[in-house]
Amino acid sequence: MSTVSEQHITYDRLFIDGAWSAPAGDARITIVSPSTEEEIGSVPDGTEADIDVAVSAARRAFDAPGGWSSWEPEARGEVLERFAVALDARQEEGARRTSIQNGMPISIARAFEGPFPGMVTRYYAALANAQVREEVRPGLLGGSTRVRRTPIGVVAGIVPWNFPQAITFLKLAPLLAAGCTVVLKPSPETVLGAYTIAEAAEEAGVPAGVINIVQGGREVGAYLVQHPGVDKVAFTGSTEAGRKIGEVCGRLLRPVTLELGGKSAAIVLDDGDLAGNIDAVFGSMLINNGQTCWLNSRILAPRSRYDDVVATLAGLASGVTIGDATEDATQIGPLVSARQRDRVEGYIAKGKAEGARVVAGGGRPDRDAGFFVQPTVFADVDPNSTIAREEIFGPVLSVIPYDTEDEAIAISNSSEFGLGGTVWTQDQERGLAVARRVQTGTIGINHYVNDPVAPFGGVKASGLGRELGPEGMSAFQATQTIYVDPPQLG
Ligand code: NAD
Repeated sequence: MSTVSEQHITYDRLFIDGAWSAPAGDARITIVSPSTEEEIGSVPDGTEADIDVAVSAARRAFDAPGGWSSWEPEARGEVLERFAVALDARQEEGARRTSIQNGMPISIARAFEGPFPGMVTRYYAALANAQVREEVRPGLLGGSTRVRRTPIGVVAGIVPWNFPQAITFLKLAPLLAAGCTVVLKPSPETVLGAYTIAEAAEEAGVPAGVINIVQGGREVGAYLVQHPGVDKVAFTGSTEAGRKIGEVCGRLLRPVTLELGGKSAAIVLDDGDLAGNIDAVFGSMLINNGQTCWLNSRILAPRSRYDDVVATLAGLASGVTIGDATEDATQIGPLVSARQRDRVEGYIAKGKAEGARVVAGGGRPDRDAGFFVQPTVFADVDPNSTIAREEIFGPVLSVIPYDTEDEAIAISNSSEFGLGGTVWTQDQERGLAVARRVQTGTIGINHYVNDPVAPFGGVKASGLGRELGPEGMSAFQATQTIYVDPPQLG
């Protein structure tokens, strides 16, 4: 069924209804290492017929008397604890599979992709346990009402390739804890980690049909989104795909969560210390080779400190260790694919053509193979130029000068996106005051790290709804109101 060697990982089945099923078709997805350009694995390419079988399985697991949705949260919590243990035992495998497929430096994969699945699974199991199941509310008209939280149903979970394990669990952990079942469609660039998840689910005894995984591209994803057996869509990916999915869900009146693209701004105040916080600067501006949705790719610097900010960022970009993603010392690995590299290089060319000044990078590093680009810093960037407005999804920073704090906030808010952001200052209160005026779903002061306890998501073209925190579980719950004691009217 599967062969796993150091060099090549092959699977021949799909994980559906708690079993390893033969796919309906015989097409395959081939994985190429972005670090070496060698083939490193292949899996079945799922079809609409596979989606039909998977949705039916998820439907049965949800609807059947005694099904997952009817379990008490404590009982689901026991299964989820075993799932978390099985996921934790596979932390290194999950991290490594991400790194070999999408070029994420292994140190970053070990910090996020490895531990995140088990950590959030436990978090949501505890949260579901602590929730009041049926709240009794005294009525304003007299009498009383009961408000129940119910699982929303069968979820279509569609995820991108940039943090495949972590982003999958932004959906999987809360939906399972809430009592939903799922058909998961990973991105075709990162198919292998989903098998790690399936194997952990099987070992943990997650009931058949609760988690179903169908590999495939956007056509299969689009078929899943509109499937009559699906109750809710949870999507992370590009704004372009999110708009299409949102349109379909609007027509069907199907609840949808959309975590989309970004073009977040770092506002450096006149007392901001980038050089003294260089790890946090790297973490918020370049992590994962620039392939992170909330990255601060626009840096707004006060004119009085402009040269100093440009020099610090140029020094950072020129000094990082570029290398094979699986090497411990690597800070910047390759982009996920040749197509993504072409896209990023297109933006670098556009930046030059539009008159921005390259102060670091701008080309390819000297390597024999791999989809690498140098971390690139542009100075003197016009806030209305293409590289300052569009999501590049690569290690390309644009430094934009400003004169007043109001102007910096206005430039930050002029974006069509609103996902992340940072404020850099030595005065926390001043930083908070600026952060409160930035129109974005999340923002950090002198650092940016998504903590699982807090809601994450965007405004404007960055999406709809929130993941993580209690809000992330509400997205997979509906309420049912039962009017129990009648009021004495009249
Ligand atoms: P993408 O939109 O091309 O694909 C994402 C996933 O959706 C893939 O699994 C793909 O097969 C599927 N898909 C694409 N079109 C579809 C459609 N019409 N119907 C159903 N499924 C469809 O994005 P990508 O290139 O994989 O990822 C990069 C993008 O994701 C960037 O724009 C990035 O900002 C965004 N992203 C957002 C977040 C967030 O939380 N806001 C996190 C990570 C990535």
